[in-house]
Amino acid sequence: MLRALSRASKKLVTSDHSFATLKMSNRYSSSAPKLKGKVIVVTASTDGIGLAIAKRVANDGANVVVSSRKEKNVQEAVQKLKSEGLSAEGVVCHVAKAEDRARLLNKAVETFGGIDVLVSNAATNPAVGPVLDCEESVWDKIFEINVKAAFLLSKEVLPYLRKRGGGSIIYVSSIAGFQPFNLLGAYSVSKTALLGLTKAASQDLASENIRVNCIAPGIVKTRFSSAVSTDNISELAVPEEIGGIASFLCSDDASYITGETIVVSGGMASRL
Ligand code: NAP
Repeated sequence: MLRALSRASKKLVTSDHSFATLKMSNRYSSSAPKLKGKVIVVTASTDGIGLAIAKRVANDGANVVVSSRKEKNVQEAVQKLKSEGLSAEGVVCHVAKAEDRARLLNKAVETFGGIDVLVSNAATNPAVGPVLDCEESVWDKIFEINVKAAFLLSKEVLPYLRKRGGGSIIYVSSIAGFQPFNLLGAYSVSKTALLGLTKAASQDLASENIRVNCIAPGIVKTRFSSAVSTDNISELAVPEEIGGIASFLCSDDASYITGETIVVSGGMASRL
């Protein structure tokens, strides 16, 4: 059954489907910063792509909650963002730990009064090698962090998004989710799973005005990629090039986009 984002306005009805039509609104003409008033929680956001996303959405007017496993990293990231005049708080959150995930969401609600957007960015890649050489324990670890934690956080954030009458979830996948990297077999499969999670959850939640989208970066210059990227690859992305896409997906400019993955790969092959 076709489900489109819930709109209160009239519907265009064809012979066998009904399509929601855009509701007229003056929000598109606003001159306020595009994410003003939104509360955005970003996982794994004290470095690399997560920090760039946090910084960009805060620059665009959001209140952002950063997090990662190490207290020192969280403190430094919050201090950095605040020193730039941005609205930021932070808390330790290892995404595989239920109590940490609860603390992260509680922190956002206690500090900023609710949650509008979850950016699920954490990932791990402890294995290098062909997919079927992956040890079971390593496979479990990759799927625990990269897929299961994203799924659980999404479940856990839902009540807060519903309280706001809508919201958005953004997963950070990878170009490897479309075209597996030779030596990152299991990691690549975990990133493909996020593409499926995006599709499935977006269909379930569209009628509640909750959008679910995904970003698939190519190779981005971060600590994470330093193991696979070399000086031979001259055209790496910088994390800020992912931050802008995340900010767009959080914003009302993307209000009719759900279930989509935006590939940000500088031309690396993804699909037809
Ligand atoms: P990064 O620069 O290595 O940053 C990692 C961040 O994650 C740090 O803040 C780290 O802080 C935190 N972290 C690590 N494990 C965590 C966990 N279990 N729970 C919570 N926080 C955790 O990584 P990145 O390159 O920005 O990657 C971010 C995302 O982009 C990942 O999903 C990755 O798969 C994806 N991606 C990256 C590239 C690339 O080329 N870099 C390409 C495609 C997709 P602590 O050490 O304090 O925890």
